[in-house]
Formats: sequence, structure tokens, C-alpha cells
Amino acid sequence: MKLSVVIPIYNEEENINLLYEELKEVLVTIDHPHEIIFIDDGSRDTSLALLQQIQQQDSDVVVVSFRRNFGQTAAMSAGFDYATGEVIVTMDGDMQNDPHDIPRFLAKMDEGFDLVSGWRFDRKDAFISRRLPSMIANKIISVVTGVHLHDYGCTLKTFRREVTEGIQLYGEMHRFIPAIASGVGAEITEIKANHRPRRFGTSKYGISRTLRVILDLMTVKFLLSYGTRPIQVFGMLGMISGSIGFILALFLSIQKLFFGVSLANRPLLLLAVLLIFIGMQFISMGLLGELQARTYHEAQGKPIYVVRKVFKGSSREEKQE
Ligand code: UDP
Ligand code: MG
Repeated sequence: MKLSVVIPIYNEEENINLLYEELKEVLVTIDHPHEIIFIDDGSRDTSLALLQQIQQQDSDVVVVSFRRNFGQTAAMSAGFDYATGEVIVTMDGDMQNDPHDIPRFLAKMDEGFDLVSGWRFDRKDAFISRRLPSMIANKIISVVTGVHLHDYGCTLKTFRREVTEGIQLYGEMHRFIPAIASGVGAEITEIKANHRPRRFGTSKYGISRTLRVILDLMTVKFLLSYGTRPIQVFGMLGMISGSIGFILALFLSIQKLFFGVSLANRPLLLLAVLLIFIGMQFISMGLLGELQARTYHEAQGKPIYVVRKVFKGSSREEKQE
């Protein structure tokens, strides 16, 4: 089994050498071959030069350098693409994660899990701007996605290769990897991980991230639950809205036709028309969504199910999918 350690780097010049040494110290004690993949996410400091120096001395190191800053999600996604190991470890490049935790993560993987996620139970970041919003976000994400973790934001995670191959990341989705992975049937668990204050460099994020997280959460939830049947969401909303509108309109028509009530000054009429229109819009959106879903799956040759294994033939041969 080979281990690939993926590390996104954006302006971390003071951390790189220390991080590399600390990580290497741990990796040599592990009984598996390893590689370290640094993704330089368009750093503007000397990070890339430092990484290249390390790469020249250590053939287990791969450096992928982006043309510009594409963000941490893109960096991690590139790391997954270039990783050749069966097990992939992701960690931050700012030394906040502790490489000494890696053996415990691997032991947990040996128990059969596909994804082990770190929980920074003693997180060393500011309370109001970072830990509090993150606590709330973790609760919301857990409830909405049904994948209950204390800490979605910890980059220190280990993955079985099949998991990273089965998922596509967009936007700022790296924190949702466990939720997305649950969509392809991954066995997920969480263990406590050490967390250290940032000693060098500055955090690349602020409080504005919380709002983005909520938007991403909507996307993830929608894809997980209704990605293959959008009409069920939009159609349902459309039917509810349309039916209420129709009943109101019917009621008004009866008043007008049989009782001669004037409709000119009835706000209810406006509401009825609005609800019917919204209803029609929702239903058409759902139908368009259905078309999109078909394009999405068929264009990529991506089935709507995920196979673990196929058992067939008389020779008791197992075919891995
Ligand atoms: N990072 C990156 N690209 C970015 C922002 C961050 O590759 O656009 C890297 C950064 O260098 C670090 C990791 O992602 O290794 C986590 O970033 P940071 O420590 O700033 O996040 P925090 O720990 O404050 O949540
Ligand atoms: Mg950090």
C-alpha cells in the first residue's frame, strides 16, 4: 500500500521547510512507501522555489505549480488527480495539523473505513471569528447532510483512493468531501486530531466564509438528495403553489360568475395569478432540471448508482469495479 500526502500551499514560505522535515520524520517510521504532493496554489512569495529545492533532494516529493491562485479546493482536487497511492492523506501547509497524527489515521483506515476525518477538538483559532461560526456550520451541515461530524473544516483526513476518484469538487467544496463521499457510499468516521496555532504566515480566510458555506451546503444537499430527480423538488413546490393559486382563482370566479362580486379591487386575485405563475415556473424548471440530470450522467458515462463489487462466474472469482 502506498501513501500519498497532499498539501495545498499558498504563501507559506516560513512553514514549508519545517513542515517537510516534521512530516518526513513521521513518514519514514511508517511501513509503507510514500509520496508527498505539494500543490503550489499560485503563491506570490518564495514558496515555489523552496518546494522545488525540496523536490530536487527528495524523489518522493512531487510539486504541482498552478498558474494562478485557484483556491484550496482546486489545489486539493489537483492533489487527488496526481496522487498515485492507494491511501491519500490531506493536510494544511501551515503546520496547524500535526503529522504525528497520521499513523493513528492509518490504523483507523485499517479497520475498514474509506474516509477518516480529523476533529480539531482543541482548536487553536480565534473564538468569535472562527470557532463559533464553524461550530454552528458543523451542526447545520451535519443535520442537513445526515453525515454527523464535529469538524468538517479539518483538512487532516485520510481517504481510500476509490473515494477521491468517485467525487468531483467545485467552488469551495473541499469541506464537504465527507458529505459528498457519503453520496458514493463511503464508510466515514472521525477521530480527534491535534491542532496547533498558526506560527507563521496568515490565515487565508475570514468570517465571510460562513455565508459561502451555507450556499455550498444547499448545492451539496440538492445534489445528494435530488440530483437525479430534480422534478421531485421543483415539481412539488410548483404543484403546491399552483394548486393554492388555482383554488383561489376558482373561488374568485365563482363569486364573480354566480354572485356578481366585482374582482377589480381584490388583492386576492393578484395573489392567485402570482401563485399559478410561480407554480408553472417551478414545474418547468423541474423539467429542465430533469434534462440536465440526463445530460450530466450520460455525457460522463456516469451511472446513477455506485457499485462496490460484482460477484459473478462459477470460478468464485471476484471482479472489482
Ligand atoms: N490555501 C491554498 N489556496 C488558497 C487558500 C489557502 O492552497 O487559496 C492553503 C493554505 O496555504 C493552507 C491551507 O490551504 O495550507 C489552509 O489555509 P489556512 O491555514 O489559511 O486556513 P485556516 O486554517 O485558517 O482555515
Ligand atoms: Mg490554517
